[in-house]
Amino acid sequence: MRKPFIAGNWKMYKTPVEAAAFVRELKDSLKDVSGVDVAVCPPFPALWPVKEALEGSDIALGAQNMHFEKEGAFTGEVSPAMLQDLGVKYVILGHSERRACFGETDELINQKIKAAFTWGLNPIFCVGETLEERERGITKAVVEIQVLKGLAEVTAEQAENLTIAYEPVWAIGTGKTATPEDAQEVCRFIRELLVNLFGKEIAEKVRIQYGGSVKPENIKELIVQPDIDGALVGGASLKVDSFTAIVKGS
Ligand code: PEP
Repeated sequence: MRKPFIAGNWKMYKTPVEAAAFVRELKDSLKDVSGVDVAVCPPFPALWPVKEALEGSDIALGAQNMHFEKEGAFTGEVSPAMLQDLGVKYVILGHSERRACFGETDELINQKIKAAFTWGLNPIFCVGETLEERERGITKAVVEIQVLKGLAEVTAEQAENLTIAYEPVWAIGTGKTATPEDAQEVCRFIRELLVNLFGKEIAEKVRIQYGGSVKPENIKELIVQPDIDGALVGGASLKVDSFTAIVKGS
């Protein structure tokens, strides 16, 4: 039985001061919740104040990106060693906004995923098709390439700490959600790919989140799907009420 996992991707929202105040409120709002893993992924400058504000709570800290090298002349980048030192547990990698806006390739994402494992960080590895790809009927082919390339050279032992987020690009920030059946079909397909890569036992342990306009109104019908183990939440994670309702509904 996989424990549900809800992660909030704050994207480029909230200053450090706003983020810490938000988390203090969220902690209180979620204090009676059990049976679900929760993480918040603030922008880099807010990681430290959020970490401090999270003291005494089970909410985990996540980052939204990282470089794959430990250190070096990479102006503007943040390394896995820095995130580890900060107490970050999860790191979102391969988000469609990183792929589309910053040209991240499957090969680069694979380097980052391997580096995350090396540094003891748990990747939340995002995959998903564009609207055009869905309409062309190539959703599974696209997701298969992303999964296979992204997870190249990842070991079964490492994969135990992997989360995959299936995020159809056309559903992110648009208010359009995949039907629970469509989301389940792709998540099931991803799990079959994991069986081929790592064996059934490991594949059954990997949590697969759905992401794309998740809100309090649709979390329940998504989470009951057998291969959907939680959600990566963007917009609705920016408000204490809606994020709390999603966590409680999962
Ligand atoms: C995301 O950013 O990963 C996401 C799913 O965003 P939203 O929930 O706003 O669609």
